Amino acid sequence: MGEMRVRFAPSPTGPLHIGGARSALFNYLLVRKHQGKFILRIEDTDQERSSRESEIDIMDSLRWLGLDWDEGPDVGGPHGPYRQTERLDIYRKYTEMLMDKKMAYLCYCTEEELEEQRQELKARGQMPRYMGKCYGLSEDERKKLEDEGRKPVIRFRVPENELIKINDLVRGEVNFESSGIGDFVIVKSDGIPTYNFAVVVDDHEMNISHVIRAEEHLSNTPRQVLIFDALGLKKPEFAHISLILGKDRSKMSKRHGATSLNQYKEEGYLPEALVNFLALLGWSPEGEEEVFTLEDLTSLFDLERVAKSPAVFDLEKLRWLNGVYIRKSPIDRIAGLALPYLTQAGYVGEDGANLEYIEKIVDAVRDYLGSVSEIKEHVGIFFDKELTFESEKAVDVLRGEQVPGVLDLLTKKVQNEGELTPDNTKKMIKSICKELDLGGRKVFMPVRVALTGKMHGPEMHDVIPILGGGEILRRINISLEKAGHTLDG
Ligand code: GLU
Repeated sequence: MGEMRVRFAPSPTGPLHIGGARSALFNYLLVRKHQGKFILRIEDTDQERSSRESEIDIMDSLRWLGLDWDEGPDVGGPHGPYRQTERLDIYRKYTEMLMDKKMAYLCYCTEEELEEQRQELKARGQMPRYMGKCYGLSEDERKKLEDEGRKPVIRFRVPENELIKINDLVRGEVNFESSGIGDFVIVKSDGIPTYNFAVVVDDHEMNISHVIRAEEHLSNTPRQVLIFDALGLKKPEFAHISLILGKDRSKMSKRHGATSLNQYKEEGYLPEALVNFLALLGWSPEGEEEVFTLEDLTSLFDLERVAKSPAVFDLEKLRWLNGVYIRKSPIDRIAGLALPYLTQAGYVGEDGANLEYIEKIVDAVRDYLGSVSEIKEHVGIFFDKELTFESEKAVDVLRGEQVPGVLDLLTKKVQNEGELTPDNTKKMIKSICKELDLGGRKVFMPVRVALTGKMHGPEMHDVIPILGGGEILRRINISLEKAGHTLDG
């Protein structure tokens, strides 16, 4: 085999979706493993729905994931242009070749006539398809139709009774009958090629060796194979990867979670978590391990372990993986990502923040995060001016008879300690247990409730140094009062 060349060929009709990102990733992993070339081709022949904005969004999302390409509309390359609407001359050349070979022809049928033919076939119990009415029109007939002002499309002549065999690298041998297909349009009346035609010309012209794409394109493949064959061109290998389903086994949609990549970015998912998650949507390595970097994946990935059965999108798994990467990352990175959410929630002023302080807070709560945006639900204990008790049960904890003694001792220790650190705080709490001869729970719980109002949360030895002496004493007083203990002095 020569150099491996693969392409990701999105239609820029919206932001990059989970499914598209997964296709891009599988292409990327395979080609990086084999040291080939990754091509980005923009399939913008649907001019009404395509936009530059979507194209930019797709490229940004790919870059964010770390999937860089070797040839594409922005970086250029030897087989450009890489945007289909800029390649119309190239398609024209191939259209002429097909016309010369009588494997393509002009069709003047109107929408109404096509509909009539469809109804006729249906009435006869046959599959509606174009039966070749305009094939073999004489010069005179063509001229007459053109004089009527009709603008032709170009159709591909589908051979009859041919078995089209596709050796799909994921699905195995898949066969299609040519007779079911009907002569299909390859160039629209405005001269723009259709997807099935442009994709063949481009995959050939760009020397694509492997076409890895979503299963929904499998039904297009026989049409593409027919065009490759008609032009006498070598076909690439095909690999169709399974659909992505929601947990209820219906096709993945917004109901199952965000579908576009940038929504995940906005919600505070890390690109490495998404890469890891997407790789496992339809592929699995040997063994039980599930946490992989892009680099790991590049060496492990192969098409043999891509599943035929649909992949199930499990948002909880993505949250779990994201949590793994949130905990693994340098704290300044996570704090930097958290800052906009904290600002949005009003915890941090627009004019900036004490980054060191923010980092401590983020570090104290990051174990609880499935996405960075969730941070706002965990940091009220540090930022809220008012101490609120989460439940009557929490207040009950404060009513324990040992509580005034515990909090009194804590007050004294905090006052005597210089700077509070996680280390000396741990020691402080331990010695409270010892000095008062109390089990851990009898100390930890009331301290937690007194200082945070909550029964659960981040480690107290992280919380205490962040709150600092003054705030601790203020909260202890509020808590003692709340529980009906009389205050000293
Ligand atoms: N433009 C097609 C899409 O976005 C690409 C299909 C292919 O990879 O051939 O679905």
